[in-house]
Amino acid sequence: MNIPYFDIARLNATYGDELYTAATHTMRSGRYVRGSEVEHFEHEYADYVGTQYCISTGNGLDALCAVLMAWKQIYGWDDADEVILPANTFIATALAVTRARLTPILCEPCIDRPTIDTTRITPLITPHTRAIIPVHLYGQMADMDAINRIARRHHLMVLEDACQAHGAIYNSCLDPGLASLFGRRAGNNADAAAFSFYPIKNLGCMGDGGAVTTNNRELADRVRAITNYGQTTHYSHTYQGFNSRLDEVQAAILRVKLPRLDRDNCRRVEIAHYYSTHICHPAVQLLPHVADKSHVYHIYPIRCKNRSRLQEILNTCGIGTLIHYPTPINRQQAYADSHFPAMPVAEAWADEELSLPINPALTDEEVMQVVDAINQNIY
Ligand SMILES: *Cc1c(COP(=O)(O)O)cnc(C)c1O
Repeated sequence: MNIPYFDIARLNATYGDELYTAATHTMRSGRYVRGSEVEHFEHEYADYVGTQYCISTGNGLDALCAVLMAWKQIYGWDDADEVILPANTFIATALAVTRARLTPILCEPCIDRPTIDTTRITPLITPHTRAIIPVHLYGQMADMDAINRIARRHHLMVLEDACQAHGAIYNSCLDPGLASLFGRRAGNNADAAAFSFYPIKNLGCMGDGGAVTTNNRELADRVRAITNYGQTTHYSHTYQGFNSRLDEVQAAILRVKLPRLDRDNCRRVEIAHYYSTHICHPAVQLLPHVADKSHVYHIYPIRCKNRSRLQEILNTCGIGTLIHYPTPINRQQAYADSHFPAMPVAEAWADEELSLPINPALTDEEVMQVVDAINQNIY
């Protein structure tokens, strides 16, 4: 039985005709951009995340970039101003910073969890530092309490890169009110957040899509203008913006999928729990199990010093795996001119990480098959 790394067609098939009905209905409507599906989705997603505002965009990179451009305009930042982000992220986090013409400063991740090492942030802060972008990598939320504390002390903005963490819930200790009873969703723990709805994300459309969430009215208005040619009223262009929008068909698809997000995330957590309690091999290092809802397992990472051999063996067993990510930002050729320092912790992650299949549509038998293939082989 072959188990591909992620079978998106199988997951989408579990919706029966719902996705196609929603898409066809929208295609027949004659309204393809900036219509009622997008408007409804933005309200529904803001409600779900718990923020006052949601501004949809064409993808996650644009969502990140629009927030940084908006802050740069609003607060008068300049090109030398710095944004701190983890070195072990998808390239888009860094590209957003440089596309907004700001200066990226890389920070190491933790050793035993994939998120930014908050003890290493303060030494990176200079008079030019303006913002921190914690990335909720693999679906694991960063330590937002520590990050928000540092940001408050140094007057920095915080932008959550929540592109891998739709639906995760963080239990803040800083906020003893409602948040500690119910927690706050990823996307509602900082000044702003960016989401991607790329097809294989925990909430994915059938093309590209993204969104910004925030509780700040001025930022929401500015992001909306910037992603719509910098326009405030028709043909009146107040800011230099660009064009990035979610289309009606994608919004209709997301409206079908959003009500099932929590259930899909529960299935991911169930599979992750099975892996965490059943994988047992001297060459494999598991991450500490996360018992709260701050991890929605977009990715299930294991670490193995002999990763290429393990990947080869699993491939022979018909099991697809991926590496997230083989090259940290400081080693990417695109940033050769930035002369980033060595990042030994991020580089060890890049050398040893292997992502196991964690599709919510996987059967128990398939999950057991993955475990057996890992446990019963020599590498
Ligand atoms: C997917 C992703 C992005 C970018 O989203 P796109 O929609 O592909 O532009 C940004 N950051 C992280 C961490 C991501 O996983």
